Amino acid sequence: MNKPPENIEAINQAAFEHCIFPLAEMDAVRRDGPHIWVGGQGVELTDNNGRTFLDMMSSHTRANSLGYGNEEIPRAIYDQLVKLHYVGTVDNFVEPAVALAETIAGLAPGRLSNLMFVSGGSEAVETALKLAKQYQIDKGGKPRAYKVISRWNAYHGSTMGALSVTDWLGTRHVSEPGVPGTSLIPGPTRYRNPFGMEDEPYADFCAAYLEQQIIHEGPENVAAFIAEPIMQAHGVQIPPPNYFPKIREICDRHGVLLIIDEVITGFGRTGAWFASEHFGVEGDIMTMAKAMTAGYFPMGAAITRKEIIETIPMFRHVHTFSGHGGGVAAATTNIAICQRDGVIANARDNGRYFLDALQSALAGSPIVGDVRGLGMWLAIEFTADKATRQHFADDTVKAVVQRMKDMGVLSSAIGNAMEMAPPLITTRDQLDRAAEVTAEAVRDIA
Ligand code: PLP
Repeated sequence: MNKPPENIEAINQAAFEHCIFPLAEMDAVRRDGPHIWVGGQGVELTDNNGRTFLDMMSSHTRANSLGYGNEEIPRAIYDQLVKLHYVGTVDNFVEPAVALAETIAGLAPGRLSNLMFVSGGSEAVETALKLAKQYQIDKGGKPRAYKVISRWNAYHGSTMGALSVTDWLGTRHVSEPGVPGTSLIPGPTRYRNPFGMEDEPYADFCAAYLEQQIIHEGPENVAAFIAEPIMQAHGVQIPPPNYFPKIREICDRHGVLLIIDEVITGFGRTGAWFASEHFGVEGDIMTMAKAMTAGYFPMGAAITRKEIIETIPMFRHVHTFSGHGGGVAAATTNIAICQRDGVIANARDNGRYFLDALQSALAGSPIVGDVRGLGMWLAIEFTADKATRQHFADDTVKAVVQRMKDMGVLSSAIGNAMEMAPPLITTRDQLDRAAEVTAEAVRDIA
């Protein structure tokens, strides 16, 4: 098993001939070759050179929350596809889709109760945005509410609506002007921000900024504010506890719906079913995808309150593969495994263990400014100067990630930070190994 194929060169060549590499830096891909993976087991991935890596990213997309080689989920998908693979949307559901919606409503914060299945994160965000706009129109009082406020460095996806509330990765600029009516405001960041403020006062300032932006745009024009509970850009930006309560209050005061985008955080990543739980915040609409199926089937969803969906006589939005039987079976089985095996508690406890291990292994490093994390989502923020917290202008972070890869551990460079998002099932021995390799790579590059 996992033996490297003999025709690596031909496969690499064919990849260049026939594939598009989304968001890849093509000079680097041409230099280093594409990554072709041939097998995975537990938290290990094997490439077509026969090299095996400890995958501390749950795949490049952070979706593979149960790692690799799970047999229960594929079996459940197979059984459902053979029984009834798909029937369509509107008022048609494969039977287990209804039970899954009920289960997720039970896991979601507070009053979030009614859910629309889609095929991924961007579609979930599109659904949330349209739901917010249509609610404002159908409810009356805000018939022209086409504006949505988002945040600097947000990532909400690549389809045109989701892209329009996205700032991170430069994906937005090639599609300007996107969907009109979006504005961006600052969001809380840890360790450094453009105004040199401490974390909590800066979070207060960011919340106050939202209110001013709503007033500036005209509250009657603003449908929604969208935020990731923990922003990914520049590494796991956990907001201070004062942020979301203020955001909730401000949205309520102005009749602006709060969309919480849990696409990357949902289904256990932070040691809770949803990251909103850590901050005591309930969105009016919440999105999810990625780890919903542990990466075994493309699926997402947007969930909202009963009052919101009941205000809308006909939701004018549809995707062909909403509630596909394969995704329904995968998500249902993933949730059952997480409940049976204590996966979320493992993510919480082992995540804390990993954070402690990284913090002590990196203490005193001249280039590490901050080590932070929640559950199995961690980041190391680098600095060229601890006094000024200046970030590196060069490729230092990428060099650390490459050094770790050379030593057999996969991590990711994300702006000024290095990120790790291990599968939720990762053991303490595996986390010890990842912490050792991280410390060695940081020492080598410093
Ligand atoms: N929202 C968030 C917070 C994400 O992290 C992502 C993807 O990384 C998306 C939305 C888009 O999801 P997808 O790539 O499945 O369309």
